[in-house]
Amino acid sequence: MEKITWKCPKCGYTFDADASEAPPETCKMCKEKCQFVNVTCYIPECGMTGQDTRLG
Ligand SMILES: [Zn+2]
Repeated sequence: MEKITWKCPKCGYTFDADASEAPPETCKMCKEKCQFVNVTCYIPECGMTGQDTRLG
C-alpha cells in the first residue's frame, strides 16, 4: 500500500496515511484547521527520510 506523508504547515506535525485516504481537516497536534501538505519524498535528494525537506 502506498503511503503519503502529510505535514501540518502550522505546527509541523507529520504523519503517514494510506494514499487512498484524504488528510483530516483538523490537525491532531495543534487542533487548528489546516491544509495538510503532502511532503512524501523517498528519493535520495530528500535524505531518504520520507519527507521532502524542500517543502519546509
Ligand atoms: Zn498542526
